[in-house]
Amino acid sequence: MTQSLIRIPSHKDIKGQERDVAEFIHHFLLENEIQSQLVPVVDDRPNVIAVIKGDDTGKSIMFNGHTDTVLPYNMTIEPFSGKLENGKIYGRGSVDMKGALASFIITLLAIKRSGFTPGGDIVFTAVIGEEGKSEGTEHLIKSGIKTDAAIVGEPSDYEYAVGHRGLEWFDVTIYGKASHSGKPENGVNAIEHAMTFIQRVKQDLYPVLKKKHAEYMGDSVMNFGTISGGTEQSTVADKCIIRLDRRYIPGETIESVMKEYQDIIDNLHNEDPTFRAKIEITPESLLELYHPPLITSINEPIVSAIRESIRDVIKREPAITRGMGWSDAALLKTYAHIPTIVFGPGDLTLAHTEIEYVEVEDLVKAVDIYCRVVQRFTKLMD
Ligand SMILES: [Zn+2]
Repeated sequence: MTQSLIRIPSHKDIKGQERDVAEFIHHFLLENEIQSQLVPVVDDRPNVIAVIKGDDTGKSIMFNGHTDTVLPYNMTIEPFSGKLENGKIYGRGSVDMKGALASFIITLLAIKRSGFTPGGDIVFTAVIGEEGKSEGTEHLIKSGIKTDAAIVGEPSDYEYAVGHRGLEWFDVTIYGKASHSGKPENGVNAIEHAMTFIQRVKQDLYPVLKKKHAEYMGDSVMNFGTISGGTEQSTVADKCIIRLDRRYIPGETIESVMKEYQDIIDNLHNEDPTFRAKIEITPESLLELYHPPLITSINEPIVSAIRESIRDVIKREPAITRGMGWSDAALLKTYAHIPTIVFGPGDLTLAHTEIEYVEVEDLVKAVDIYCRVVQRFTKLMD
């Protein structure tokens, strides 16, 4: 299944992007008599929503995974062959996260074939766009989806995450005034002002961020990702855009984070009225929902269900992940109020890399773990 999914590319340069892989999953489920529907989200790109009905005596659970991948970029292996060698399956999306999708699908199949009736519904959502604006999971939430818990299958290497940082992308646009480079005093150089802004952020904000830390999430951090400005060498640059990534923790909000930069912009403007800039959320980074931190209490029943199920299989106490990247789990928890954790097969550090792979053993064990979670969690009474 993992190989089949890798062989259907679903990055953003593919027409319809996730459509073909979604149709493949949908038809596979139907052929195996599992209820499934394709739900169009945007531009002919559908989510797959499948259900195995429970007998309404216990709790429902959602398995959530994204069908999109990042581009092949500089992969040094064939990205879409799905080659299996020495127990590893190679290709774009193998670990992020077609391996997890395959594990979810095979879990449904195993439950179906075993004749086990879950206490509550098992809902499988294969969503579009997680590497983009999270259109797929946002659509689920707006359609009112609700289960008693959810597992997002991002790779977690036999650990599980109950929290991760929020993530927002910002554009800081710095305005200058063009003039001929022979008379630079007639202009305002936006590139020089950008340099001043960066220096001030390093001086004033970095020390503040260094003091902010959350136990299961890591430090509050930021990164200057790209900078672009100016038109040509003989013109004073009239505009410069800095794009940055900000990972924030509970206690910080989208407003408080933006204000940190706005304060620096205001201070610089007061010191030098020619300094003019604005900050905004990078327009193509979201639809409507922000990307808050994931905060699920370790006292939630789904947390003990996953912890005990991992322990059954690896024969030791699993660790709680610290510092996992942002995922759709945060949307399900924040906006649909579903206690959500992250657990999936493979090593997260291989995601988006030149030689991406997932180990077959990890896939098989993930199915074992997911099946145990279903048996444990859906049989819980209120
Ligand atoms: Zn992912």
